Amino acid sequence: MSRFTDHSICLRRHDYSETSQVLTLFGRRYGKQSAMAKGVKRGTKSRFACGVDLLEEGECVLSSPRSGAGLAALMEWKQSNIHAALRRRIETLNAALYAVETTAALTEEADPHPKLFDSLAMLLNELSDRTDCLASLAMFQIVALEEAGLIPRFDLCRGCSRQVSGGEPAYFSSTEGGLVCRDCEAALIEKRRLPQEGRLAVEKRSFPSPEASLAAFDVLNYHIETVLGRPMRLGKMIRPATDRNSTTKEYRNARI
Ligand SMILES: [Zn+2]
Repeated sequence: MSRFTDHSICLRRHDYSETSQVLTLFGRRYGKQSAMAKGVKRGTKSRFACGVDLLEEGECVLSSPRSGAGLAALMEWKQSNIHAALRRRIETLNAALYAVETTAALTEEADPHPKLFDSLAMLLNELSDRTDCLASLAMFQIVALEEAGLIPRFDLCRGCSRQVSGGEPAYFSSTEGGLVCRDCEAALIEKRRLPQEGRLAVEKRSFPSPEASLAAFDVLNYHIETVLGRPMRLGKMIRPATDRNSTTKEYRNARI
């Protein structure tokens, strides 16, 4: 049985018994690892233990399963950052939870993505200082999609390869992998309108206004949900409260 150490962020946690947890950890060196943390919630008379929390960052020692399949065992966990500031506002907490959900959904077990790890760690650090979380979150979606090899292209129409000017209606198709012009969209079932500000924000990796950040987040979230074939659990919690119903409607319409 081999042991290895990693710097990790907790993406998921489930209680397994009164004293144990099953964790999904995302490590900088070794990628996503599912691990059994036996006795991690067992306290002593002088020490209360609640296990490893979601979003928590720390140094772990993991032991690989003997057969090469199944869960690793968490041998040690040394907490380095609990990101407590994220929990002061529901907007930042939801944005952070959306980011770990995206990371878990778009990565495979034991497939390292140090760039994505750094982007997630940076996001968790900077979210708590921001009033507008959407620009940071949209940038994180871009890195996660790039790392998964799923980043959409907005430079040319994916159907006919022609330039689509900013003045004409543009569409986005997840299955086509990006921008679709008005001549090509009629033949497609899976598509949605692509607002100009969202297109520019994703293309230029620049978010000049809250509206641009929201439009970019929306189209990237739609893409992630279509690729996964299911809604993101936190997806509809990210928008401002007044917009949430319209997002759900838009999502449903896009799938009809
Ligand atoms: Zn076209």
